[in-house]
Amino acid sequence: MVNDACRLCNSKEARLVAVVDGSQYVRCAICGVERMASYPSDAEIAEFYDNGYMTKKFNNLGHHLHFTKEYRETYFAEKSLTFDDLRVDTASLKGRKLLDVGCANGQFLEFTGRLGMDSTGIDISEEMVNAGKEAGLNCQVQDLFEMKGSFDLLTYWDVIEHVSDPRKVLEKTRTLLSPGGEVILQTPCTGIVSELFGDKWLYYLPVQHLHLFSQDSLFKLLSETGFSVVSWVRFGSCNPKGSIPDVNKRAMDTIAKRMGIGDTIVVRARRTDN
Ligand SMILES: [Zn+2]
Repeated sequence: MVNDACRLCNSKEARLVAVVDGSQYVRCAICGVERMASYPSDAEIAEFYDNGYMTKKFNNLGHHLHFTKEYRETYFAEKSLTFDDLRVDTASLKGRKLLDVGCANGQFLEFTGRLGMDSTGIDISEEMVNAGKEAGLNCQVQDLFEMKGSFDLLTYWDVIEHVSDPRKVLEKTRTLLSPGGEVILQTPCTGIVSELFGDKWLYYLPVQHLHLFSQDSLFKLLSETGFSVVSWVRFGSCNPKGSIPDVNKRAMDTIAKRMGIGDTIVVRARRTDN
């Protein structure tokens, strides 16, 4: 059953929610986060990512290290929509300092560059960072915890579910933000969609996804680490393109977004000052 205590609240009380490839996910009875019942060791995690993880992931998505023009435009349109949903005043971002953590090949830096932001990206994958550098983007191989400086905005696109200690990451985030600075964080979100799909939910990915937050557990962690939520959006119905007819997918995705029950959340939170 549960071997390891929850890294967010230290409790071992938990209930089984999914079994994927022989790995169990449990929901913590105290903080509500879903997590791997037994966390993988650092060596297992390193082996997983060393095995061409990024290249495979990008190939599976139908593109490679250097995004195609078509994909880039889709990506930029998605990010514009998310910024609108979060009520970000993009005109106010001009000249502001951004740090994108887990920047991969730096696609988001190109987006914020267009908005006139002073953008930096960090990632632990040398392969991806090199692809970003070749595209002329300001990316570097750097561990978040070694990072210094002061930024107006930190972003985490699909990163927090991979890290071994999300609380430590948010605490570090706070120290890198100027007073009134903000964080934008996108991550899978448990709830009615994950419950209905169970073992088949797309985001139960052992070794990669260590923690899967509910909206409540994520907001609680943000509050405990010195942030107040400004806005959020949830979207996604666990129906990848091509898995069901387009008209059904559009309907399900629209219902999930309008009702605020989508299985991905993007939250915008502001550093609170003591
Ligand atoms: Zn917990």
